[in-house]
Amino acid sequence: MSVIINDTCINCGACIDECPVEAIVDEDDNPTGEEIYYVYADKCVECVGHHDEPACATACPTEGCITWDAIGDSPEHREDITEEQRANKEPVVE
Ligand code: SF4
Ligand code: SF4
Repeated sequence: MSVIINDTCINCGACIDECPVEAIVDEDDNPTGEEIYYVYADKCVECVGHHDEPACATACPTEGCITWDAIGDSPEHREDITEEQRANKEPVVE
């Protein structure tokens, strides 16, 4: 995993063009079938090498919508994020 978008997403589209690696798809392309935007964990690099923090979360107007998730298929991850932050799915932007 990487960062994830939860079901508070309002499908506003503010995040998708901010992603430097095109890891985000809209509700029509969400592979889970949920009517919300989706982050492909095997593409998301948590913006390492691109931005100081995940650009999707900075752009998102919905508080707590984009959160940390466990490290998994993500090709890059932020070393300064704790296991607790990931396990608790804490918001990327407080
Ligand atoms: S954290 Fe960065 S790389 Fe990952 S989905 Fe958000 S914008 Fe894309
Ligand atoms: S910016 Fe936030 S609310 Fe808007 S589509 Fe992306 S995740 Fe959903």
